[in-house]
Amino acid sequence: MPWIKEESCTGCGICVDECPAGAICLEEEIAVINNDKCIRCGICHDVCPEDAARHDGERIPDEVQSNIAYAKKLLAHEHYGNDKAEQRQLIERLKRFFTKNQKVAEKTIEQLEVLKNTEYL
Ligand code: SF4
Ligand code: SF4
Repeated sequence: MPWIKEESCTGCGICVDECPAGAICLEEEIAVINNDKCIRCGICHDVCPEDAARHDGERIPDEVQSNIAYAKKLLAHEHYGNDKAEQRQLIERLKRFFTKNQKVAEKTIEQLEVLKNTEYL
């Protein structure tokens, strides 16, 4: 999923003109991507002269930090109090949740590989 690094965007509008899906507009001279319209063609990455249309993978560290912040917020809930056993159980539940997401991603990648090799393309 592409995203716009706002501090790098000059609002030149090139990506707006080049996006084949009409998924980008300017709001207060900053490009904004409509994720529901985006068809993942990658053109915005190629045409932006400021390298402001960024790749999703760059967000991994931020997303990890966000997940850890979420875990800390849950751990701080009064339900868990200072009960170390309850807190450890919560951490195990969160690990299962993220493991499930990992498996969904792995299975999806497998199925995409199958799709690549079918007559669908
Ligand atoms: S091409 Fe780059 S700098 Fe220009 S509006 Fe799009 S994201 Fe911003
Ligand atoms: S990836 Fe393609 S469809 Fe999506 S915003 Fe960029 S140019 Fe538009």
